[in-house]
Amino acid sequence: MRAVLMGPPSAGKGTQAARLGTELKVPHISTGDMFRAAIAAGTELGRQARGFMEAGKLVPDEVTMGIVRERLAHEDAQSGFVLDGFPRTVPQAEGLSKILASQGVKLDAVVLIDVPEDELIRRATGRRICQECGRVYHVEWNPPPGDACECGGALVQRKDDSPETVTERLATYRAQTEPLRDYYSVEGSLAVVDGMGDPDEVHRRIVRVLGRCS
Ligand code: AMP
Repeated sequence: MRAVLMGPPSAGKGTQAARLGTELKVPHISTGDMFRAAIAAGTELGRQARGFMEAGKLVPDEVTMGIVRERLAHEDAQSGFVLDGFPRTVPQAEGLSKILASQGVKLDAVVLIDVPEDELIRRATGRRICQECGRVYHVEWNPPPGDACECGGALVQRKDDSPETVTERLATYRAQTEPLRDYYSVEGSLAVVDGMGDPDEVHRRIVRVLGRCS
């Protein structure tokens, strides 16, 4: 299965893509995770990506295409993958389709996780992450035991989850990523799934639509 999970920031793409990748036994490929790992490792790629990410903007297409092209060439991605957060622009979608055509394959499904904007803002701005163990809390529906994590680590807000950056990320999504909805609708590979509610229920909805694509 070669699938793309699309959706606005905080729609739940990361959670759903990780779970699908495990179940389908294909790699979960997240460009956001790759950029964050590069920043943490202090690489040149991280240096290039950091400013864009912290401002809620997209990393330029040529940089993003470079890391995806390299990742999709790995042995483990030959029999399938779940892409999370890529493509995010029409040129990226065109680039992806060229890479796949050069391998003689194509996408099986593009799933758009749909969540209303007020909910996206609540999800992102309430998220807190433990600096020590990486555990993710939410101030409203999964609050930490006190000011710190259960492990004692300090809780921080991801820089790109601040209210200003979330607003900017949503604007970026509307301007640059929303057009992919039409792009993939025309191709006939788009399925829209309701992203509200319990993650298990959202997962079941995604599995149902993927069942129709395979
Ligand atoms: P995510 O974890 O998918 O929300 O991505 C976090 C940030 O990484 C985004 O707000 C962008 O700045 C950057 N990013 C991730 N994927 C892409 C992409 N496909 N194209 C450009 N920038 C990206």
